[in-house]
Amino acid sequence: MKIRYFDHAATTSVDEEVLNAMIPYFSENYGNPSSLYSIGKENKEVINLARMKIATILNCKVNEIYFTSGGTESDNMIIKGIAFANKRYGNHIITSKIEHHAVLNTCEFLERFGFRVTYLTPNSKGIINPADVERAITRNTILISIMYANNEIGTIQPVEKIGEIAKRYGVYFHTDSVQAVGNEKIDIKKSNIEALSISGHKFYGPKGIGIAYINEKINFMTIQDGGHQERDKRGGTENVPGIVGITKALEIANANLTSYNRHLKELRNYYISEIQKRIPNIKINGDMNSRLSGNANISFSGIDGNKLVEMLAEKGICTSSGSACSAGFVNSSHVLLAIGMPNFLAKSALRVTFGKENTIDDTKFLLDSIEESVKILRKI
Ligand code: PLP
Repeated sequence: MKIRYFDHAATTSVDEEVLNAMIPYFSENYGNPSSLYSIGKENKEVINLARMKIATILNCKVNEIYFTSGGTESDNMIIKGIAFANKRYGNHIITSKIEHHAVLNTCEFLERFGFRVTYLTPNSKGIINPADVERAITRNTILISIMYANNEIGTIQPVEKIGEIAKRYGVYFHTDSVQAVGNEKIDIKKSNIEALSISGHKFYGPKGIGIAYINEKINFMTIQDGGHQERDKRGGTENVPGIVGITKALEIANANLTSYNRHLKELRNYYISEIQKRIPNIKINGDMNSRLSGNANISFSGIDGNKLVEMLAEKGICTSSGSACSAGFVNSSHVLLAIGMPNFLAKSALRVTFGKENTIDDTKFLLDSIEESVKILRKI
């Protein structure tokens, strides 16, 4: 069966050029970067070069880039590292209700250690109002963590404005950019971002590698103790193939941003307009202006989103729903609930996220399959 993949917010395949760049670092160039012989020292140079390339693309300093195991670790490292280092200045953190669990659960962890967290509610389209961020700041606020783009509904937050407010009040600003990097042009300095999380597998790089950008002026505490790697901020032997891979993937993404976005938008807009024509009683979730190009999140009232995902999977179509099963219970997406959606509509949501290998023909197949499946599910 042909697989048609429309779940690029979950993960992407590794680009062939990325894979080819990585392969030598699994075999002939396997040295430990901390070793003193040539195959080790050469890999230290490879990492330094990767850091330079990444810093240039993101517009920050080379010594502000740290390699991690992915988005989750970058979020943990940054939020906990800033919180614990600055506790004597204040114990208040501002975030939003629509963050990924890597941020939400990290904040909940910190609440157990005496931190107070404000979880801001977005508007009904999933956008955080910068004025709400400003209103939430107290003299105890040490960190604002608001995501760049949402993984479920694709909304892009007013990061530059939030960064400006954070700067004005002297509060650190972190943004989880896992969904944005590779899709949006990120300029750290222009957006007043002081800490940022990136994950390789969201833009055709490998899994298990991430980046944390941490401004050199941030008062920071090391969370992962170990060796002296990553300038004492993240102990552990470096994932050299992963570092080579994420760097190559970022370079490719950065060079092709305009054409990539054009391709995704064309497919996404065609998909949404066809759904609107073909299927009654639907709701498009999120904001159509401030949104990642490849994201479409639609509620099909009266159906179970998980059942729709399963029916599509039988035809080789990969998508995702607005709810998750855990311990036998179906929980609606916290993001859809936070934008004020009733439970039954949240449970009927389908997330389609387009990627570079998708075509109009695949999208037509997807549309026909959704139309057929929704009809069947609405009759049950
Ligand atoms: N943050 C966001 C917004 C995400 O979408 C994800 C993954 O889906 C993560 C963090 C976690 O990234 P990783 O899978 O690299 O740990």
